[in-house]
Amino acid sequence: MRLVLVGPPGAGKGTQAEIVAGELGVPKISTGDIFRANVSGGTQLGLEAKRYMDAGDLVPDEVTNKMVAERLAAEDAAGGFLLDGYPRNTEQAEVLDRMLEAQGRALDLALELTVDDDEVVRRLSGRRVSKSTGKVYHLEFDPPPDPDSDDLYQRSDDQPETIKNRLKVYAEQTAPIVGYYAERGKLVRIDAVGGVDAVTERAMSAIRADAE
Ligand code: ADP
Ligand code: AMP
Repeated sequence: MRLVLVGPPGAGKGTQAEIVAGELGVPKISTGDIFRANVSGGTQLGLEAKRYMDAGDLVPDEVTNKMVAERLAAEDAAGGFLLDGYPRNTEQAEVLDRMLEAQGRALDLALELTVDDDEVVRRLSGRRVSKSTGKVYHLEFDPPPDPDSDDLYQRSDDQPETIKNRLKVYAEQTAPIVGYYAERGKLVRIDAVGGVDAVTERAMSAIRADAE
């Protein structure tokens, strides 16, 4: 299956992508994770991306699209993939369609995770990540084993001002791709409020229904 996850920052895309990709046996490809790995590794790509990420803006399309094209060409993506955080504007959605078309493939489904802004702020402000495992926790909703551990960090873009800009960027630049996929009959809307397991079940039912 070739799937993309769409939704505001904090909707639970990364959390669901990890589980759903595991269940489907396809790689989870998170552009945010790839950018962050490059920032930590001090690569040229990381240096280019960092100032946009720190501001909560989108990294320019030419940088992002090239990175995704390279990742999708890897062998493990030949049998399908679950994209998390890409595409994030209409231009990227068009580029992805063209990339797949050139390989005689097409996207199966876009899953939109819906939550309101208040819940987004709650989820992002409590988000903590383990340095050693990369696992994402929430102080209240999915508490880490030791909330005071030095192993936990808060993402630098999970600060109130940056969250505000990321929500604005989502509304202005990313939300239009929901319409893009709806027009092509590829959109499934999933209520992302509720426990992680309940949301996974909704996502898996939608994917199974599409495969029938
Ligand atoms: P995104 O990838 O969309 O930015 P994440 O998957 O990182 O979102 O989730 C954001 C935060 O919300 C994390 O701290 C995560 O633990 C928490 N979270 C994810 N899914 C749920 C849920 N269904 N209910 C409550 N909190 C959740
Ligand atoms: P995320 O981990 O998905 O919340 O992404 C973190 C940050 O990485 C975003 O705020 C952007 O700065 C950048 N980013 C991730 N994916 C994309 C994308 N598809 N296009 C442009 N920028 C992106």
